[in-house]
Amino acid sequence: MSGAYLIDMAIFGGVLWVLVPELLKKWGVPQDWGFVVFGLLGIQALTSGSNLGEGIRGIFRARTKKRKEAESALIAGDVGTSVLDVFAVPEAAEPVPADAPPVLEVSGLGVQFGALKALDDVSLRVRPRSIMGLIGPNGAGKSTFVDAVSGFLPQHTGKVLLEGEDITRKTPAARARHGLRRTFQQDRVPPQLTVESYVRFVTRTRIDYDELSDALTFLGCPSPEERLSNVDVGTRRLIEVAAAVLAGPKVLILDEPAAGLSHEEHLLFGQRLSRIPSRFNTAIVIIEHDLDLVRTVCTEITVLDFGRVLAQGPQQEVLDNPAVIAAYMGDAEMSS
Ligand code: ADP
Ligand code: MG
Repeated sequence: MSGAYLIDMAIFGGVLWVLVPELLKKWGVPQDWGFVVFGLLGIQALTSGSNLGEGIRGIFRARTKKRKEAESALIAGDVGTSVLDVFAVPEAAEPVPADAPPVLEVSGLGVQFGALKALDDVSLRVRPRSIMGLIGPNGAGKSTFVDAVSGFLPQHTGKVLLEGEDITRKTPAARARHGLRRTFQQDRVPPQLTVESYVRFVTRTRIDYDELSDALTFLGCPSPEERLSNVDVGTRRLIEVAAAVLAGPKVLILDEPAAGLSHEEHLLFGQRLSRIPSRFNTAIVIIEHDLDLVRTVCTEITVLDFGRVLAQGPQQEVLDNPAVIAAYMGDAEMSS
């Protein structure tokens, strides 16, 4: 009722639980009235789908928003921020030197499910602020690769180095803290949260409201106040990407992030994605079916087939590789 995922409200809820009966006792009111107080809070939570913490935050936000709007209207006339303004934010990054060490280095990765070798001796290196495409037919082992690298399959063999540090034996949470983040092929956002509380829950760091709001706009996500239950699946996946980006990872692995989007949204997503590395100083590994998107955003490509690396290297080289054309696609999409 108070909003247990908000740390202050969890504490407040606990205090309330103790304080209400104590106060009633002190005032000589029968203790049963305590149930009425909690009952009323319960009705508020159930009917609004919200809670006390979000309610108070909502009032506070609306006020700051109004004040800020008034201020900016005074300063610059009444010009609202458009998506283009967000795109125009200067990018601070200098180019990555050619001999820079890889930020993620995976070597000899193997995963076995019973008799099935889902991954067999898979190695790859991801350069800082680069975007690597991980492609391959269904069942090739792409999601298994993400699970193994992010620590969800501790039985894997091989090594995972993040900025030269061996993280092979670390838990998923420890890997995330070290700067390796991933999203899932199926969206995992809890629908009862607002966009903002979800992002804060994922990032676990202090983020300025404006920074959060800018990043959401940048990635084409709804406003921070929107409830996730009102958001369609494709957009939820974008919010997952935004939250992961705001966590400030060194490497971000995205498992088919654009799967739920329309064709136009898909193209726009590609444009936005290609600007993430320099804007947020992170490297990206993306699993993606749409080869047009892969062509426009990925500098390097790794092709998986039956758990093995079929081809690897600069984008054009890989897409022109006869083995890739023959074994993987060899269809109209590829020859276009
Ligand atoms: P992709 O993401 O490339 O479509 P996956 O990594 O999901 O492929 O799957 C690779 C292979 O491993 C498939 O043959 C799949 O059936 C199998 N597989 C994936 N996860 C498991 C599991 N938990 N147990 C058994 N087999 C699995
Ligand atoms: Mg998959």
